[in-house]
Amino acid sequence: MRKFTERTLLVATHNAGKLDEFRQILAPYGITVTSAKEHDLPEPDETGTTFIENASIKAHAAAGATGLPALADDSGLEVAALDGAPGVYTADWAETPTGRDFVMAMQKTHTALKDKGATQPWKARFCCTLVLAWPDGHEEVFEGHVAGELVWPRRGEDGHGYDPMFQPEGENRTFAEMTSEEKNARSHRGAAISALLEGCFS
Ligand code: IMP
Repeated sequence: MRKFTERTLLVATHNAGKLDEFRQILAPYGITVTSAKEHDLPEPDETGTTFIENASIKAHAAAGATGLPALADDSGLEVAALDGAPGVYTADWAETPTGRDFVMAMQKTHTALKDKGATQPWKARFCCTLVLAWPDGHEEVFEGHVAGELVWPRRGEDGHGYDPMFQPEGENRTFAEMTSEEKNARSHRGAAISALLEGCFS
């Protein structure tokens, strides 16, 4: 596995919630995180049909544009009773003409479960795929998952995206009711970043 030897890591995301999580998780390792926004990078079209394909598109686009190694995350929520939806389309479920609305996206998810007559517990998992790409085209891939269930009504004010309706297995609080440290210690992104640190930074 190729090692990452720089001190600054370009994280190819325009999602402020994800970026904050990367900064927090990587700070203790002395790794400074710079973002796609700071490099004025456009958001490439996510034309893949898997998390790996989309993470790879974003990571290589950023590495190619900047000449720096770039890390991209593609993540989403898979709901068992919805046959894995919204999956790679998790962000799309929040799209409106004026931007992303996650309250609406959570409502849509709940409505889909009700329409299907799905009985509780509504099993779900968050998935995170990370691709670290170098400008010469080399890449390393890491994955993390967290199993849990969807709750309704949604609970909690913290976090981002679908956090208020996701309760990880063995917990009685949603991700949005946890501190960021508590969430990061349990989350799909925390797990994928641990694998990345072990593979490329140790
Ligand atoms: P993408 O990876 O940018 O395509 O977007 C994935 C979408 O999944 C995000 O916009 C969020 O809605 C959702 N998502 C991913 N990770 C999390 C998380 O940790 N909490 C809540 N929602 C998440």
